[in-house]
Amino acid sequence: MQVKRYTRRDLTFWEKLYLPQILCGLKITAKHFFKNLFLHGAHRLGLLKHLPASVTIQYPEELPSLASRFRSRHRLTVREEGTPRCVGCMLCETVCPAKCITIVPGEHPDPNVEKYPVRFDIDLGVCVYCGYCVEVCPEDAIRMDTGILDLAAYSRKDMQLDIHELMNPELRKPLKECSLKFPHQCELSDGEMKGSWEGRGS
Ligand code: SF4
Ligand code: SF4
Repeated sequence: MQVKRYTRRDLTFWEKLYLPQILCGLKITAKHFFKNLFLHGAHRLGLLKHLPASVTIQYPEELPSLASRFRSRHRLTVREEGTPRCVGCMLCETVCPAKCITIVPGEHPDPNVEKYPVRFDIDLGVCVYCGYCVEVCPEDAIRMDTGILDLAAYSRKDMQLDIHELMNPELRKPLKECSLKFPHQCELSDGEMKGSWEGRGS
């Protein structure tokens, strides 16, 4: 393969002064500003519709359309009866390069299901959104298709999703009560929870 070599040219006297270059940048910005101002005004009057003006979206009131493969906030998928599909195999926790998944598996009362996640946490402040956890899961139990982009929080702790937020992506901290529909006993304290199958339904 032929390699092309380029030599960087020296800056001219005017380029070394920087100020002319700054003025050039401002000229380009001002050109776009007045062009778009004029075109948006003309569009309002029903004129020059064939000439597109620069557009933006009014985020967060208006959300961008996402590609189908876009990786957004995680969720845990559920079976028909509302229990998590996760069988606590720990593959996602093991493969996660950021080590931001914490799972505590428990014995499932159904002998056909080996385990379930008593605890399932993902620290979004550490997650690198690689999607490995989704790819490795043998049960299709975790997905990154919620379309939720708004992950900002006031503290690092608020960025740690627990099983409630993962099974119901609409939930955000602080959590007031256990919202899980399957017979899962929870003790919620300051966003932390402990769970087991004991003591709630069957
Ligand atoms: S997307 Fe990647 S970094 Fe984030 S939890 Fe999944 S495996 Fe870990
Ligand atoms: S989410 Fe999937 S990979 Fe992770 S522990 Fe559950 S079943 Fe295993």
